[in-house]
Amino acid sequence: MICLLRGTKGKCPCPVCLAPLKKLSDLSKTFEARTTAQVKDAYVVYLRKKSDGEPILNALGLRPVEKIPHSEPEAAASFNPLHYLHHGIWGYHLLEEIKIILNKLPCMYAAELESQLDKFPSWRNLARFNGILHPSQAVDELMGSLANIICSLNYLELDSLIVLDAHTERTLGMIEAELLTFGNELKEYIVHVRDGNLLEHLKTEWNFPKIHLWKHVVQDIRTKGVVRNYSTRPNEKMHGALKDTYQDHSNGKDVAVQILRIDNHCLAMKLIKDRIDAETEHATAESSAGNDEDSNIDDKAIDTIREIMGDHATRLEFHSFGGKLTNFINQCLPVYLDRDPYLWVNVSFPEIFQLKEHACLKVHYKSKMDWREATDYVHCNPAFHGKPHYDAIIFQISLDEVAFARLEIMFLCDIPGFGKYDFALICPLTAAISTNWNSFDEALRLTRIKACPHTASMFIPIWSLVRGALLYLDPKHKDKFLVVEHIDGDMFLHMKEWSVNRG
Ligand SMILES: [Zn+2]
Repeated sequence: MICLLRGTKGKCPCPVCLAPLKKLSDLSKTFEARTTAQVKDAYVVYLRKKSDGEPILNALGLRPVEKIPHSEPEAAASFNPLHYLHHGIWGYHLLEEIKIILNKLPCMYAAELESQLDKFPSWRNLARFNGILHPSQAVDELMGSLANIICSLNYLELDSLIVLDAHTERTLGMIEAELLTFGNELKEYIVHVRDGNLLEHLKTEWNFPKIHLWKHVVQDIRTKGVVRNYSTRPNEKMHGALKDTYQDHSNGKDVAVQILRIDNHCLAMKLIKDRIDAETEHATAESSAGNDEDSNIDDKAIDTIREIMGDHATRLEFHSFGGKLTNFINQCLPVYLDRDPYLWVNVSFPEIFQLKEHACLKVHYKSKMDWREATDYVHCNPAFHGKPHYDAIIFQISLDEVAFARLEIMFLCDIPGFGKYDFALICPLTAAISTNWNSFDEALRLTRIKACPHTASMFIPIWSLVRGALLYLDPKHKDKFLVVEHIDGDMFLHMKEWSVNRG
């Protein structure tokens, strides 16, 4: 409206360029940019002679209205991740198509999807879902999280790339390349739908502004910084307060003046309350995930080696726990500590030796996205919110190589004469995977990893943890996991390096 466009179905509905309506879904083409002068000049012609100005305005998709002086709305119009991605392409287009397809399939498929979503492990800041096939439950704020769960491939790649908090030429190049792939995939999808038997149910008309607007995101990032600078997400919660004030505290006339004069206090208080509610929500989520803010480690219990082995008697990972720990401390710890193994005095641990178990650990690391400190909470807890919860991690397996593992137990060990060290027993997920998987995984861009035999569990010092990892158990193979790379920018970039290193 501010750009004086004739609406989303107008001839040229993009506020930034002159892309014609019928070409909006063609992401391979770039169209002439709109300029302030175009709007001004066309309006001058219109004022001089209506019949001369109208075709010019029409061709530009503009209304015959005078532009606000000294404004450049074409340059101000920016990419909005909330309404263009999570709440746009994903929430109202891709997800809707997925739901239609699922509803046309035998109901066992929808039930299977629901059951798999239900088994999705919990992760900090990632909302949980039940019943995605019922739109009422897919509320606005959860759209972004839901997109993380169902692999919508190109969309997910673009989403993760676009919302990065720091960009380089490489990541901007990746957005442009991915956008072309998305455009091509969309063309293929439309052909499939046209030739398929769901033609009357699925969408074949994808020429609408939201599908085109991310053409301009790279330019926005170059000129205005990363997309969080112009996201509308921070103000989204204030819409309710403003609407309530308009509805309940004004007569609908001269609203701005009335709100300023009469209801200033009321509005301010409502806005402050909303902000406090949002902060409280955030703080509750933080405390349930991490407990004590000042400590990196949450202590659970002091147990002897015998008690730990007794508690986990049926689990092969804990087989010969005491002996393995003794070997680790005598053979591996000197290497980790860079000490001469010949000067290392061997220690042995009786079964009554006590270890202090940790249920939660905060892993601080330098994010690959913006080089700032980031934190993951990893849990090793038999009753986390009433359920066993053992997180996966990435750890440094050698000087220049990282690997995935599942945590079994974390504990503090006070080695007599040496000092206190934190260790973890892990099950490495480093087993080789048959090459038969490759074409399927490659097409779906999945990273699949496989657990080593349970008896291959090993000890590592806590300081070799790189970060937490979210893995989804392959429903058909109990020893294989899919890496969920779209949880944050650091993980996304980790996995990009991972796939490069593995060719
Ligand atoms: Zn455009």
